[in-house]
Amino acid sequence: MAFTIAIDGPAAAGKGTISKAVAAHFGFAHLDTGLLYRAVGAKTLDGTDPIAASLALVAEDLDNDSLRSPEVAQAASRVAVIGEVRAALVDFQRAFARRAGGAVLDGRDIGTVICPNAEAKLFVTASAEVRAERRYQELIAKGTQTSIETVLADVRERDARDRDRAEAPMVAAKDAVVIDTSSLGIEDAVAAAIAAIEAARA
Ligand code: C5P
Repeated sequence: MAFTIAIDGPAAAGKGTISKAVAAHFGFAHLDTGLLYRAVGAKTLDGTDPIAASLALVAEDLDNDSLRSPEVAQAASRVAVIGEVRAALVDFQRAFARRAGGAVLDGRDIGTVICPNAEAKLFVTASAEVRAERRYQELIAKGTQTSIETVLADVRERDARDRDRAEAPMVAAKDAVVIDTSSLGIEDAVAAAIAAIEAARA
């Protein structure tokens, strides 16, 4: 049986952690759709045309640790404004969403554009300051040299580009349950997500 859980929201709000935990809880497959845009963005850093890169994307392109860097994140949000790039990635995401056994997709436009009929929709958010602090701690733990000011500016720039673009802007679907993780620990955030999904399943 297909059951789609759409989880959208800005960078470092906790979407990834919540999505993985929710997928494990329900025994569903999980797709981090940001990786698709990151893989296309990473190719453009080598000079590849973004539309050509999106059309040629293969599964192995997603399996690369360097996709997690701040440079690739910015490149991802730059290619994500291009309608042809987004269009090239739609079929793969929709097929994943309707696979038998259930699916969790996290991103920016899952509940609004990719899966407007998803059975459960969440929008996970937090203040820019809290998200920047979390991302800063992650980067420092990985040994990346940076400052909180740089990370906050990066978060704000990417939020603005994702929110203000014409194609599939980042916005909560009207029927999404909003979870603000600014003052929630991981366990409470996951519990809130599972409770919202259980309510949608009932
Ligand atoms: O979620 P993540 O930070 O990996 O996403 C990287 C970038 O990819 C986002 O800033 C956004 O521009 C783009 N993206 C998107 N739509 C999605 C997922 C990600 O536009 N569904």
